[in-house]
Amino acid sequence: GSWYTVKTATGEVYECRIKGKFRIQDIKSTNPIAVGDVVDFKLDTKGDELTGVIHHIHDRKNYIVRKSVNLSKQIHVIASNIDQVFLMITLDNPPTFTSFIDRFLVTTEAYDVKTVLLFNKIDTYSEEDLLEIKYLAAIYREIGYECIGISAKTKKNVDQVKAMMASKVSMFAGHSGVGKSTLVNAIEPSLNLKTKEISEQHRQGQHTTTFAEMFDLSFDDAKIIDTPGIKGFGVVDMDKEEIGDYFPEFFRLKEDCKFHNCLHLEEPKCAVKEALEEGIVAWSRYRSYVQIIQGEDENYRVDVYDE
Ligand code: GDP
Ligand code: ZN
Repeated sequence: GSWYTVKTATGEVYECRIKGKFRIQDIKSTNPIAVGDVVDFKLDTKGDELTGVIHHIHDRKNYIVRKSVNLSKQIHVIASNIDQVFLMITLDNPPTFTSFIDRFLVTTEAYDVKTVLLFNKIDTYSEEDLLEIKYLAAIYREIGYECIGISAKTKKNVDQVKAMMASKVSMFAGHSGVGKSTLVNAIEPSLNLKTKEISEQHRQGQHTTTFAEMFDLSFDDAKIIDTPGIKGFGVVDMDKEEIGDYFPEFFRLKEDCKFHNCLHLEEPKCAVKEALEEGIVAWSRYRSYVQIIQGEDENYRVDVYDE
């Protein structure tokens, strides 16, 4: 809506409005302000209630977007100033495919958001499954992503996740059913995330408007951004040449390709393809890359929407 809840540095909370259209960012988005924004506001003492008028938004360190549902040409800023996203992954119930993980990582690389991979439900896995997790984790660790095997249910390694959340703004992502709500409840039992409330209210047939919100947690100045109803985010208007740069291991090799604009497809003397043959680059990663390059429309939208 047009009201924003703003929390001051000393912890007071004010309902604030914005004046006029407020064009500050150089992106065309349907929402001028998003959860995570740092703003300046003046208190408005006219009415009985003390409310605020936002007059300045500080530069965003980063932000993530999705395409607007209504206006296909416009984007919606989901959240800003995110320190890290935990991407939750399960082998089964639901399956998370490497193509999904790799697309997701392209979006977070493009928006410069640190991503940690959480392999959840390790309490349910067979020896064979655990080997597969180990193999996958090795691929992603090798290229710079932290990976942790956890069980939100038994709380195995949940303390490790909590430790990583200290003094940071975190988000949790992943397919529906991977255990996001269960993990957040294990981290902070008193936090009743809207994600859950909405599904409960939905069952009662009530209409609810959803809005994104940031929560202060009870430990170590940790914060969570909850974006109910948003299943994933995307990159709009990405150039074909850009995509390889968001595969960190390709980007490192790129300067050794014969052509500076090498797409690592059929070009001769391609360092990425050589590394692939030598087993240095993982086939699953290369396959995801080719799928993104070949499977998309002209402006290479990389969407990771769940539904
Ligand atoms: P969300 O859609 O990502 O929020 O997923 P939920 O937190 O609702 O979890 C989906 C289902 O998986 C629920 O039945 C949870 O009890 C179950 N679940 C979540 N984490 C774990 C886990 O670590 N181990 C097991 N065995 N089940 C889990
Ligand atoms: Zn190349």
